[in-house]
Amino acid sequence: MFPLKLIVFVALVSIVAAGPWGMICAGNPKNKPRRCDRLGCGHYGAPRLGGRKHRGVDVICRDGSTVYAPFSGTIGGQVKPYRKNNAINNGLLLRGSGFCIHIFYIRPVKYRGRIRKGQKIGVMLPMQRVYRGITSHVHVQNCNLSDPTRNL
Ligand SMILES: [Zn+2]
Repeated sequence: MFPLKLIVFVALVSIVAAGPWGMICAGNPKNKPRRCDRLGCGHYGAPRLGGRKHRGVDVICRDGSTVYAPFSGTIGGQVKPYRKNNAINNGLLLRGSGFCIHIFYIRPVKYRGRIRKGQKIGVMLPMQRVYRGITSHVHVQNCNLSDPTRNL
Protein backbone atom coordinates (compact mmCIF):
# COMPACT_ATOMS: atom_id res chain seq x y z
CA MET A 1 0.00 0.00 0.00
CA PHE A 2 2.80 2.42 0.85
CA PRO A 3 4.39 2.68 -2.64
CA LEU A 4 1.02 3.49 -4.21
CA LYS A 5 0.37 6.22 -1.65
CA LEU A 6 3.83 7.60 -2.31
CA ILE A 7 3.20 7.71 -6.06
CA VAL A 8 -0.11 9.51 -5.55
CA PHE A 9 1.56 11.94 -3.18
CA VAL A 10 4.40 12.73 -5.64
CA ALA A 11 1.86 13.19 -8.44
CA LEU A 12 -0.18 15.62 -6.34
CA VAL A 13 2.88 17.61 -5.32
CA SER A 14 4.01 17.96 -8.93
CA ILE A 15 0.56 19.30 -9.88
CA VAL A 16 0.48 21.83 -7.07
CA ALA A 17 3.39 24.09 -8.01
CA ALA A 18 5.61 24.70 -11.03
CA GLY A 19 8.21 26.87 -9.29
CA PRO A 20 9.62 26.71 -5.75
CA TRP A 21 6.76 28.68 -4.20
CA GLY A 22 3.71 27.00 -2.75
CA MET A 23 0.11 27.82 -3.60
CA ILE A 24 -0.55 31.50 -2.91
CA CYS A 25 -4.33 31.64 -3.22
CA ALA A 26 -6.99 29.03 -2.47
CA GLY A 27 -8.58 27.86 -5.71
CA ASN A 28 -5.45 28.54 -7.77
CA PRO A 29 -3.06 25.64 -6.95
CA LYS A 30 -0.73 26.35 -9.89
CA ASN A 31 -0.38 30.08 -9.09
CA LYS A 32 -1.85 30.89 -12.48
CA PRO A 33 -1.14 34.52 -13.38
CA ARG A 34 -3.79 37.00 -14.44
CA ARG A 35 -3.96 37.26 -18.22
CA CYS A 36 -5.09 40.41 -19.98
CA ASP A 37 -8.51 41.81 -19.11
CA ARG A 38 -10.12 45.13 -19.95
CA LEU A 39 -8.14 46.82 -17.19
CA GLY A 40 -4.71 45.56 -18.20
CA CYS A 41 -2.43 42.51 -18.14
CA GLY A 42 -0.98 40.70 -15.14
CA HIS A 43 2.45 39.67 -16.36
CA TYR A 44 5.74 41.22 -15.29
CA GLY A 45 6.65 44.24 -17.44
CA ALA A 46 3.09 44.84 -18.69
CA PRO A 47 2.43 48.48 -19.60
CA ARG A 48 0.73 50.68 -17.02
CA LEU A 49 -0.72 54.18 -17.10
CA GLY A 50 1.72 57.03 -17.48
CA GLY A 51 4.29 54.96 -19.40
CA ARG A 52 5.15 52.91 -16.33
CA LYS A 53 5.65 49.17 -16.20
CA HIS A 54 4.16 46.48 -14.01
CA ARG A 55 6.94 45.56 -11.60
CA GLY A 56 5.35 42.41 -10.22
CA VAL A 57 3.18 39.54 -11.32
CA ASP A 58 -0.56 39.19 -10.62
CA VAL A 59 -1.69 35.81 -9.31
CA ILE A 60 -5.38 35.08 -9.83
CA CYS A 61 -7.30 35.13 -6.55
CA ARG A 62 -11.04 35.52 -6.06
CA ASP A 63 -12.23 38.12 -3.57
CA GLY A 64 -12.48 36.63 -0.08
CA SER A 65 -10.17 33.66 -0.81
CA THR A 66 -7.62 32.48 1.72
CA VAL A 67 -4.04 33.52 0.92
CA TYR A 68 -1.05 31.37 1.96
CA ALA A 69 2.65 31.94 2.57
CA PRO A 70 4.51 30.92 -0.63
CA PHE A 71 7.66 30.09 1.37
CA SER A 72 8.84 29.83 4.97
CA GLY A 73 10.34 32.85 6.67
CA THR A 74 9.19 35.93 8.52
CA ILE A 75 6.69 38.73 8.04
CA GLY A 76 8.60 42.00 7.72
CA GLY A 77 5.61 44.28 8.32
CA GLN A 78 2.77 46.01 6.51
CA VAL A 79 3.20 47.39 2.98
CA LYS A 80 0.56 49.31 1.02
CA PRO A 81 0.28 49.69 -2.77
CA TYR A 82 -1.42 53.09 -2.80
CA ARG A 83 -0.81 56.46 -1.17
CA LYS A 84 -4.52 57.16 -1.27
CA ASN A 85 -6.50 54.65 0.75
CA ASN A 86 -9.14 52.32 -0.71
CA ALA A 87 -10.73 48.93 0.04
CA ILE A 88 -7.72 46.93 -1.21
CA ASN A 89 -4.87 49.06 0.10
CA ASN A 90 -3.08 46.53 2.28
CA GLY A 91 -0.34 43.92 2.10
CA LEU A 92 2.75 42.34 3.64
CA LEU A 93 6.49 42.18 3.25
CA LEU A 94 7.65 38.55 3.42
CA ARG A 95 11.25 37.41 3.77
CA GLY A 96 12.93 34.01 3.90
CA SER A 97 14.17 30.94 2.01
CA GLY A 98 16.22 33.26 -0.22
CA PHE A 99 13.21 35.40 -1.20
CA CYS A 100 11.93 38.88 -0.37
CA ILE A 101 8.54 39.94 -1.68
CA HIS A 102 5.71 42.39 -1.27
CA ILE A 103 2.27 40.82 -1.54
CA PHE A 104 -0.62 43.26 -2.04
CA TYR A 105 -4.41 43.35 -1.82
CA ILE A 106 -4.76 41.06 1.18
CA ARG A 107 -6.09 41.58 4.69
CA PRO A 108 -3.30 40.01 6.76
CA VAL A 109 -4.04 37.82 9.75
CA LYS A 110 -0.90 39.27 11.41
CA TYR A 111 1.88 41.75 10.68
CA ARG A 112 4.81 40.17 12.52
CA GLY A 113 6.31 36.80 13.24
CA ARG A 114 7.38 33.61 11.57
CA ILE A 115 5.52 31.94 8.72
CA ARG A 116 5.61 28.42 7.33
CA LYS A 117 5.11 27.72 3.64
CA GLY A 118 1.41 27.03 3.11
CA GLN A 119 0.31 28.79 6.29
CA LYS A 120 -2.64 31.18 6.02
CA ILE A 121 -1.35 34.77 5.98
CA GLY A 122 -4.49 36.63 4.98
CA VAL A 123 -7.65 36.98 2.91
CA MET A 124 -8.06 38.48 -0.57
CA LEU A 125 -9.61 41.94 -0.31
CA PRO A 126 -12.73 42.99 -2.33
CA MET A 127 -10.97 44.01 -5.56
CA GLN A 128 -14.22 43.98 -7.58
CA ARG A 129 -15.43 46.88 -5.42
CA VAL A 130 -12.47 48.97 -6.62
CA TYR A 131 -11.90 47.62 -10.16
CA ARG A 132 -15.18 46.12 -11.37
CA GLY A 133 -14.64 43.45 -14.03
CA ILE A 134 -10.95 42.96 -13.37
CA THR A 135 -9.54 39.44 -12.86
CA SER A 136 -9.16 39.63 -9.08
CA HIS A 137 -5.59 38.91 -8.02
CA VAL A 138 -2.85 39.33 -5.48
CA HIS A 139 0.14 41.33 -6.70
CA VAL A 140 3.48 39.71 -5.93
CA GLN A 141 6.58 41.87 -6.31
CA ASN A 142 10.21 41.10 -5.55
CA CYS A 143 11.81 43.55 -3.12
CA ASN A 144 14.53 44.26 -5.72
CA LEU A 145 11.87 44.61 -8.48
CA SER A 146 13.27 41.68 -10.50
CA ASP A 147 10.89 39.28 -12.28
CA PRO A 148 9.35 36.78 -9.81
CA THR A 149 7.49 34.74 -12.46
CA ARG A 150 9.73 31.67 -12.42
CA ASN A 151 9.18 31.26 -8.68
CA LEU A 152 5.43 30.77 -9.08
ZN1 LIG B 1 0.02 43.84 -10.20
